[in-house]
Amino acid sequence: MSLWTRVALQDGNPFDAFSDFFTSGTWRLIVLLGWFLLGLLWLACAFWVFKDARRRIEDRVILVVAVLTGLVFGPMGAIVYAIVRPPEYLSDVRERELEMEVMERRLAEMQVCPHCHADVREDYLVCPNCTARLRGVCRTCRRPIEPGWRICPYCETQIGPTPDQTYQSAAR
Ligand SMILES: [Zn+2]
Ligand SMILES: [Zn+2]
Repeated sequence: MSLWTRVALQDGNPFDAFSDFFTSGTWRLIVLLGWFLLGLLWLACAFWVFKDARRRIEDRVILVVAVLTGLVFGPMGAIVYAIVRPPEYLSDVRERELEMEVMERRLAEMQVCPHCHADVREDYLVCPNCTARLRGVCRTCRRPIEPGWRICPYCETQIGPTPDQTYQSAAR
């Protein structure tokens, strides 16, 4: 007999039917189903935290703490995690670090002219801006030679002081 037919047939207090309903097997089943869905939601939150944290957190201890937060506090834990989680994925961080490294290497290759402070590359012989001589050339292999060098590192030619390098020998 369903709840409503019972209410219709009851000539006494209709609330008795409600209290009957709440002690009935159907209600117990609904409660059980509610708990089951809540448990499912709990597990889903913990799983989502785990999936997201794995891509953002490198430290294993912090990763475990994050997943435990999701497991213990369920949806609340997931919300707290979403607020405090690292803003970037680890792959993005690595990519940015790699880009920075490339930039730094490119910057290191650039030098400044000691005369006019224009940007010059490390293999320039003269400054393209003020035409000052930056480094000499090996007379054997024609590669750029830094002012302080006494031997060509590429072909082992001894380098004597040349008119090109007078600006550095004059300083000594
Ligand atoms: Zn210059
Ligand atoms: Zn050489």
